[in-house]
Amino acid sequence: MDYSSSRRTDRHTRSPCSPEKTRKEIMTKGSSGMEVILTSLENTRDLQTILNILCILNELLTVGGGRRVGVFVSKGGTAIVLQLLVQSGKEASPSEELMLHLHSLLAKVGPKDRKFGIKARLNGALNVTVNLLKQNLQNHKLLLPCLQVLRVYSSNSVNAVSLGKSGVVELMFKVIGPYSKKNTTLLKVALDTLAALLKSKMNARRAVDRAHVPALLAIYQDWHRNDTRHRHMLIRKSILGCIKNITNIKLGRKAFIDADGMRILYNTSAECLPVRTLDPLVNTSSLIMRKCFPKNRLPLPTIKSVFHHPLQHVPASGPVAQLYSQPPGVDDVVDESDDNEDTEVDTENDTENEEDEKDPRAQNDDIETDINKLRSRQVLTRPFEELRVYERFFREFSEDFQDCEFESGKSTSPSASDASKPLRSIIIPTAHSTPRPLTDPRNKPPRPDKGEPPRLKDTPVDLDSISISKAPESKLELELVQGLSQLLLDASQSVNGGCGGEGPQEESGEQAVLEVPDTAALLPLHDPDLYLVMVKGTCSVPGYTEVAYPDYFGHVAPNFREHILERVYGVQRSKIFQDIERLIHPTDILDKVVYDLDLQSCPVIDDGECLKFNSQFESGNLRKAIQVRKFEYDLVLNSDINSNHYHQWFYFEVSSMRVGVPYRFNIINCEKSNSQFNYGMQVLMYSVQDAISGSPRWVRTGSDICYYKNHFSRSSIAAGGQKGKSYYTMTFTVTFQHKDDVCYFAYHYPYTYSTLKMHLQKLRALRTPQIYYRQEQLCETLGGNCCPLLTITAMPESTGNDHICQFRNRPVVFLTARVHPGETNASWVMKGTLEFLMSSSPLAQSLRESYIFKIIPMLNPDGVINGNHRCSLSGEDLNRQWLTPSAELHPTIYHTKSLLQYLTAIGRTPLVFCDYHGHSRKKNVFMYGCSIKETVWQTNVSASSSDLQEDLGYRTLPKLLSQLAPAFSLSSCSFVVERSKESTARVVVWREIGVQRSYTMESTLCGCDQGKYKGLQIGTRELEEMGSQFCVALLRLRRLTSPLELRNHHTHLLDMESDLIETRCNITCPTTYVMEEDEPAFLEEVDYSAESDEENDPDADHAHLDPSSDPEFTHQDSLT
Ligand SMILES: [Zn+2]
Repeated sequence: MDYSSSRRTDRHTRSPCSPEKTRKEIMTKGSSGMEVILTSLENTRDLQTILNILCILNELLTVGGGRRVGVFVSKGGTAIVLQLLVQSGKEASPSEELMLHLHSLLAKVGPKDRKFGIKARLNGALNVTVNLLKQNLQNHKLLLPCLQVLRVYSSNSVNAVSLGKSGVVELMFKVIGPYSKKNTTLLKVALDTLAALLKSKMNARRAVDRAHVPALLAIYQDWHRNDTRHRHMLIRKSILGCIKNITNIKLGRKAFIDADGMRILYNTSAECLPVRTLDPLVNTSSLIMRKCFPKNRLPLPTIKSVFHHPLQHVPASGPVAQLYSQPPGVDDVVDESDDNEDTEVDTENDTENEEDEKDPRAQNDDIETDINKLRSRQVLTRPFEELRVYERFFREFSEDFQDCEFESGKSTSPSASDASKPLRSIIIPTAHSTPRPLTDPRNKPPRPDKGEPPRLKDTPVDLDSISISKAPESKLELELVQGLSQLLLDASQSVNGGCGGEGPQEESGEQAVLEVPDTAALLPLHDPDLYLVMVKGTCSVPGYTEVAYPDYFGHVAPNFREHILERVYGVQRSKIFQDIERLIHPTDILDKVVYDLDLQSCPVIDDGECLKFNSQFESGNLRKAIQVRKFEYDLVLNSDINSNHYHQWFYFEVSSMRVGVPYRFNIINCEKSNSQFNYGMQVLMYSVQDAISGSPRWVRTGSDICYYKNHFSRSSIAAGGQKGKSYYTMTFTVTFQHKDDVCYFAYHYPYTYSTLKMHLQKLRALRTPQIYYRQEQLCETLGGNCCPLLTITAMPESTGNDHICQFRNRPVVFLTARVHPGETNASWVMKGTLEFLMSSSPLAQSLRESYIFKIIPMLNPDGVINGNHRCSLSGEDLNRQWLTPSAELHPTIYHTKSLLQYLTAIGRTPLVFCDYHGHSRKKNVFMYGCSIKETVWQTNVSASSSDLQEDLGYRTLPKLLSQLAPAFSLSSCSFVVERSKESTARVVVWREIGVQRSYTMESTLCGCDQGKYKGLQIGTRELEEMGSQFCVALLRLRRLTSPLELRNHHTHLLDMESDLIETRCNITCPTTYVMEEDEPAFLEEVDYSAESDEENDPDADHAHLDPSSDPEFTHQDSLT
């Protein structure tokens, strides 16, 4: 045989095969031993010599491990051996020994050579191995190394397609077979090769066509039955790996269902569950079953919101026009298409996707790179004449107080109705203070029972401060008074049972008296009677007449710690198995609708066999409840009004429960791809029985909580055009403690619009002669509600010129909150801020003397009232409208922006702007700000940025907060400007209004993983403390930025400031770039979903399917 064919010598003309030359090369200084051996192999033509060299190499690489293989690959060994293989393959009867040696060697090298697949294909080696296999199916000695090499070939997707065409899929099915203790190594390799081949859709289709799905299932069952001592778990796992890849295609899933795959994998998994070492089998089975679970549509007539609010002006291209232009029934068609229909490379073309390295900067796609867009452009886009109307909101700039009598303080005394109440100074919210125990309500005279309206005598009816100025006020007041009796009837009814007037009283037989807990001492801003009055003035789209107990009674933060839950191993898996059981044992499923807003009458079934649900009250959001098993309910949330999606927020009432029984609740139409419910967050529950016995409070509750992708198909219309998306299930289990209780569940501590109005009324009553407080209506919302605007500062010390001048010229701090209704935590932080600002502490007085505060505590009242998660009644996210807000569609944003534009126009640009938000996927409290330099740094366009000048002042406030507020985490802050955020308040106020310190402050919904509250879930006390510490930070900021004060204490303060901005030095490694402020990069690596798209799953190892099996899973979301 002549192994040096012409082709090979052609390629190597530069090293002719003369013995002298070879020897010289061998002796060349610097040549490694490996090079010597390879050169010899390449140049020899003698079979025996070749065999000897291959022998040596095999031994060398066996002993030397990875390092020697690396040298072999780097010296071009792979190609030399592959060429040798191809040459030998051309022989009529190649030496078996040679083939054995070559394949053994390639089997060792292949897995370590990243380009092995391409090299093999380009050298034409694939067919040599395949032909050899075909001829030696019974020759196990040769078969094993050939299969090992084939396994490496197949891991390349292009090779997989071409091997499939050569019949290798069929070939593998000939090799694998029923249970046998013989040749298990061979079998394992064949199965892995098959699994790799089946990643190609074409091959998967081929396997389905030839009825291999039932065959694989039969083989799996055979192994499951016979491998009783679990010695061959890996083989069983490889069989599942094949099934997993076949079921990536729709036909494969169908074949799996037709072959009774669900039942087979369900039953085998159930038998594997007790053996922990078999977890990988259970997990892979679960993954396959979830993928194959037939997709259902949500049990709804339409996914559009139940409630419709007609807009006066519907822009043709807006979301509302789109929503209602679709023919009925189109909106939630089940989409069975594969998730990755268009992404898989399945062609014969040599698209070398194996080297498809991800662009490390791809994740930075969203960062703004246009320097001009990053530069502030304080151009006045509107003529000043147009803005002049906003002058009336800034009376403090012109007020001269000439009519004031400072001694008596009368000019600022509360209104008559308020004045009748004793002024009680409020306590600055801090999480240190522990609430005093409540007085036992049983010792109190009973409050009104069912027949009697609650006491009214000290209920202020004075709503003028927030009445709608367009309406004649006297008339409005009259209506309010007239409507009061109606309100009270409604209210008393709801107070006595919430839903349909049935509640604890009725069932307890003896007409028990509802005792309103006396929370006045603990909740100075809460007044149940006043709350009812406020509710009456609140306009909801559904026209709610009921009041939820928690909002009526108020919430006293518990004084025990609520720890972030440690997840119990296997929770998600067991929940998913319970879901799969619905398919396996369909007769066990009740499927009884017990609450349904889509039915006009919303029938209340009361057969004693099911829970009663209700959410027809402010901020309520439950559309449907279906009893699936005796103690398990599927719950469907309503979409935001005038929208067909955005559901996450929930708030509903449950009654008629049994005591001591665990109930499982599944919210089945969640949308976000991950949630803090996977990382220790619990739902909130409020028990009315607890409330009337002295503990009116929301508590974190629920066990077996998890959040995972379910089998309800999400219409592409509701998923931004993406096909094949699913909804997510948030599941939790609760055991009720009290008989005849009425309990409420919420996503986070509710804070309704009526609560805000009540708090503002009470805050106003706290004015002292030192406090300048004004409350005005900024505008009316689409739903006819008032958007309050507050002005808080200190009264001037006197009417003297200097004092008036100081008063008028205080810098403006502009604060907003609750643009996103589902982020109730933002309102609690705002409450803390407002309480601080109205408190009598010297710090608060000092702060008021330093600034004029303009505050819009609720930018989206309509969304809050109607239980929306994200949008206003226009069906749009208001925090994406700041670039060009519409006066008709986004009045609150339009007018808030106008106020800011007015301020800039008169040269009073705010010193600080901050918009309070809540964050559903991260822990702690943190800020997003805007910095040109940090943005530019992230994009690595450093060349153009070196000359950028930027004041580092934007870092001072977050830095101060990290020193003052225990929940605040500086390392979670980001100052990068993203393109997708160009229409948010933060970016527009920074860029257009020119506020350098323009922030979004994000508070966790879950808890903290640093600082004093590490490991604890967040509560209202901590949120309110955050709001008050924000004020303290502003006071320090003032001291740092006031030129006057700097002059007085220059040395000390300058040191402090440079200390504060010491970030100057570490600023070169700026804060972690966060992808999206509301949906940050998915940093917590958890495979909780059943993606059909398994391309990122190289070795099918699903040991980490349950995140709790991964020790690193818990706190990975903190940015580092
Ligand atoms: Zn938000």
